[in-house]
Amino acid sequence: MADPKLISKIPDGPLAEKWSRRKSEIRIVSPNNKRKLEVIVVGTGLGGASAAASLGELGYNVKIFCISDSPRRAHSIAAQGGINAAKNYQNDNDSVYRLFYDTIKGGDYRSREANVYRLAEVSAAIIDQCVAQGVPFAREYGGYLANRSFGGVQVSRTFYARGQTGQQLLLGAYASLNKEIAAGTVKSYPRHEMLDLVIINGEAKGIIARNLVTGEIERFGAHAVVLATGGYGNAYFLSTNAMNSNGSAAMQAYRKGAYFANPCFAQIHPTCIPVHGDQQCKLTLMSESLRNDGRIWVPKKMEDVLKLRKHEIKPSQIPEEDRDYYLERRYPAFGNLVPRDVASRAAKERCDAGFGVNETGLAVFLDFADAIKRLGHQRVEERYGNLFQMYEKITSSSPWEEPMMIYPAIHYTMGGLWVDYDLQTTIPGLYAIGEANFSDHGGNRLGASALMQGLADGYFILPYTIGDYLSHKFAEPKTDTNAPEFDAAEKAVKERIAKIFAVNGTETVDSIHKRLGNIMWEYVGMARNEEGLKKAIEEIGKLREEFWQKVRVPGTNEEFNQELEKALRLVDFFDIGELMARDALNRKESCGGHFREEMQTEEGETLRDDKNFMYVAAWEYKGEGAAPELHKEDLKYENIKIATRNYKD
Ligand SMILES: Cc1cc2nc3c(=O)[nH]c(=O)nc-3n(C[C@H](O)[C@H](O)[C@H](O)COP(=O)(O)OP(=O)(O)OC[C@H]3O[C@@H](n4cnc5c(N)ncnc54)[C@H](O)[C@@H]3O)c2cc1C
Repeated sequence: MADPKLISKIPDGPLAEKWSRRKSEIRIVSPNNKRKLEVIVVGTGLGGASAAASLGELGYNVKIFCISDSPRRAHSIAAQGGINAAKNYQNDNDSVYRLFYDTIKGGDYRSREANVYRLAEVSAAIIDQCVAQGVPFAREYGGYLANRSFGGVQVSRTFYARGQTGQQLLLGAYASLNKEIAAGTVKSYPRHEMLDLVIINGEAKGIIARNLVTGEIERFGAHAVVLATGGYGNAYFLSTNAMNSNGSAAMQAYRKGAYFANPCFAQIHPTCIPVHGDQQCKLTLMSESLRNDGRIWVPKKMEDVLKLRKHEIKPSQIPEEDRDYYLERRYPAFGNLVPRDVASRAAKERCDAGFGVNETGLAVFLDFADAIKRLGHQRVEERYGNLFQMYEKITSSSPWEEPMMIYPAIHYTMGGLWVDYDLQTTIPGLYAIGEANFSDHGGNRLGASALMQGLADGYFILPYTIGDYLSHKFAEPKTDTNAPEFDAAEKAVKERIAKIFAVNGTETVDSIHKRLGNIMWEYVGMARNEEGLKKAIEEIGKLREEFWQKVRVPGTNEEFNQELEKALRLVDFFDIGELMARDALNRKESCGGHFREEMQTEEGETLRDDKNFMYVAAWEYKGEGAAPELHKEDLKYENIKIATRNYKD
């Protein structure tokens, strides 16, 4: 029986008609009533910026918040490779169904059919919207938009703007947002960090935010709140995410009653620049697009590996017959374009077997020599020029001459706040969009699908579905920020800040965060097992205690204080890390990026347990120090045949 607390609100009827049906049912707010309604959007990445611009254009009064000094500097700006859409411009037999199918399969059958189908359905409109905004997508000679391939698919459906797709898309969304700011429908609060959610009579009614420049704690009320605050990959300390990315807003909502879904589903991206020391605080992604033409390999012979590590030979000196193109060998049908989880595990397998090519033994090659020969310098430059440049700047090695060295790193989180089909969390009036929700990617996200989801949510889904909720609210007065619920939330925030300063210890926030990252990577990383996960929970608990005894945050609250910002976020990362480990412990199966060592095939592939785990795990907060309660939303596949993922033939 379905959990009564998890009503997914998936419309009845045939898959392809569900979204149309829902849209026809959604109540509409008339323009004169929209003017009376206020919506808070926290986050200005592609999810938040597109939602705020769309809601503003619809006529709602929108307030947007972000940590950075300008909305256009949100983490989404880092996205490199592209955005998927089922346009079939390449005439390679792509379709909405195929994008839907690839996404469900790529997620290892752990996402909702109806949501994923809707995502595929609106994907084409996203491209049209962005082109209309002037996003400079790459084009073919004849003027058509160009496409390339990403992992886990056999068509070319990824639209791109060199290696800067996120930046260009965000500039498009930001331009739309600015139009609304100028028109007065959107008010922007940059350098404001949400520190708590305010609930009145069980509904989301506002937020408490810290002005990051002055330290002032401020109150903001609305008729509904939208969280577009991104993912929580930085729980691992080292990740490809922006340094400001965090999971705090989601945790604030979780503590106020929003369920957190599938927290253990974290994506490890196979092509990142390897870790090069323990003083590093950030990892760099080399876009998945590079796997269109780059070939991944390690030497076949251990003697070559040893010589490489001692710099006695260069990779280009190793003859073709002595190279193991292990992805092409193991997965002939998809080759270097297998999904990220598969490619990451395969790299780990080779490195664990001793074939890692750098001094740490944790690197494989991504080689463009063949592509340069086949396509010529100019074509390769056109496609990947800025990525090559970035790699060379960071490593001082030119990919034109020798292969890149890459290794998997934490990149994206599929888990997030549980939302229904309308993108509403379990708290009425609180919505979550983009990477902050759990909705569409199951156990593994396919490349170029995050931008698609963020923009689908922001431009085409939330602006409609939120109307259903707001249509009951226009008669309500504006939220009174003097209400006792705001007093209580503000007091709690101020106490939390004071408690952090009061520790006055000796350890920096980063040094403790780094240790949390080590625990997470070791026990909740690419391979997980029961013993390790239990240890992670124990170790995180100990580290949390140490934090409250030893952390030192210099300065005061009443100023620009990034150490304080980091400390507040780290407190939440402890809870996220623990929740991830708990969820991973519960999920005694391997699927997508969640690899339980106890559950693998003889060939080392993921082994799902559909009988017992074909559900979304939604966790309910039960108070500080208490174990959260697990709720299950069963996943039903009525339009797709469930199968073991196969990328070999
Ligand atoms: C290096 C890199 C490359 C990528 N390349 C691609 C790609 O090519 N294609 C693809 O599909 N995906 C890609 N991704 C993934 C994709 O970029 C992200 O999943 C996506 O941009 C997330 O968008 P978002 O709007 O959900 O959140 P974000 O862009 O992370 O934005 C979060 C926003 O919330 C704000 N915020 C957070 N917490 C608070 C708070 N408490 N108070 C106030 N504001 C807050 C931040 O300031 C920010 O404005 C890439 C990711 C990385 C790391």
